[in-house]
Amino acid sequence: MERPRWDVIVAGAGPAGCHAAWELGRRGWHVLLIDRASFPRWKPCAGGITVKASPYIPAELRNLFEREMSEAVISYGPRLVTRIRSSRPVGWVVHRETFDAAHLELVRSLDRVDVLEGCTVRDVIETAWQVVVTTSCGELRSLALVGADGVESRVRRAIFPTAEREFAATYEMEARMPHIEDGPASVSFDLQSFPGGYGWIFPKRTTFSIGGYVEGGPGGGRVARARLERFIACWPQLEGSEPVRARGYRIPVGGSRARMNTNRIVLAGDAAGTVDPVTGEGISYAFMTGHLAAQAIDAMLKTGRSLDGYGLQLWWKIHGPFVLARRLSDLLFHHPRSAFEYLFRNRRICGWFVRVIRGEMTYAGLLARAAVLAPVLIPSHRNGHEVTFNVP
Ligand SMILES: Cc1cc2nc3c(=O)[nH]c(=O)nc-3n(C[C@H](O)[C@H](O)[C@H](O)COP(=O)(O)OP(=O)(O)OC[C@H]3O[C@@H](n4cnc5c(N)ncnc54)[C@H](O)[C@@H]3O)c2cc1C
Repeated sequence: MERPRWDVIVAGAGPAGCHAAWELGRRGWHVLLIDRASFPRWKPCAGGITVKASPYIPAELRNLFEREMSEAVISYGPRLVTRIRSSRPVGWVVHRETFDAAHLELVRSLDRVDVLEGCTVRDVIETAWQVVVTTSCGELRSLALVGADGVESRVRRAIFPTAEREFAATYEMEARMPHIEDGPASVSFDLQSFPGGYGWIFPKRTTFSIGGYVEGGPGGGRVARARLERFIACWPQLEGSEPVRARGYRIPVGGSRARMNTNRIVLAGDAAGTVDPVTGEGISYAFMTGHLAAQAIDAMLKTGRSLDGYGLQLWWKIHGPFVLARRLSDLLFHHPRSAFEYLFRNRRICGWFVRVIRGEMTYAGLLARAAVLAPVLIPSHRNGHEVTFNVP
């Protein structure tokens, strides 16, 4: 039987797809990376990359880090504010349009990777010995497929048409500011402004990302959009902001028990739903799943090892821990005032949060400590409008 033209097709050239294609191409596999967009393309995203992604990010992309993140401002409205200053960087902010385009160029520079832009996946059929991908550029065949085509993944819908997933709604605006300070970025999360979620402000080098995250259900996008104007009006640092563009976008909620692979296909990044239900962070998990997907496919092509191990890894490393994170997000988003006073008026809990974001502690560890130490932790900074905690 004729061998398919490519060893692996990767659908979607965001961080998950580019990273999978990069690792597979460097291992010598003949890869086709396709994306429906032409790059540079806009992806609504606040662009915060945490240090968890650091082991996977090629050195060539690091000059695109616009600012370091080492301070977070958590608030309940503009008057109750906790400033958490970390002595070590928690991550960096990037502009996704330029970062993703540079990532794709880097992958394109590999001899063994072909790239097709403006090519949309429409359907996928898996047989015993190949995968047939029907696209707007014709029928493409390979031995394996990585579905990294984002939150609305066509690959996922083709292989698991009845699987249920949970989503949150976001509305993001990119805005120009009359003045942006240099130096490390102070990123803000407000628990009061968006019902069942939060608002954020992420300053970059020349623009701000301002947005709202609202838990699932139809109509969430409209709520987020309607609240954004009021949110902007409440924050003095946003005075004079000039909208550049704005868009609603869904975001998957991690903690899913759904399958993530078949015999020849794996899902990665948002297509696999790997987004932190508390913070909305998905970029580091997109890189991590791109890496795991490449490893699993490499082993499958070399030795015939089943891809089921990939699904298990996603559960143990990402979705399993996110099941507990969902409990925390329920508390934060449905009882924001109490959650703010209990969790974010306490230096020790804030320090643990920073460790979770850095990947040095799990949500289970944070919740267990917070529960066991509750009696000694409660009497903290209840009074005063603004507190600052310096954490290691
Ligand atoms: C408003 C907002 C703010 C966010 N802020 C942050 C943040 O600050 N930090 C963070 O870590 N995460 C954040 N996230 C989450 C983060 O953006 C995603 O988790 C991350 O982009 C996932 O990467 P990916 O490669 O899986 O998917 P994507 O980056 O979405 O890439 C998927 C690619 O697939 C392509 N594609 C889609 N359908 C098809 C098709 N049918 N055929 C071919 N190609 C297709 C798309 O064009 C796209 O290029 C945010 C998300 C939103 C919506």
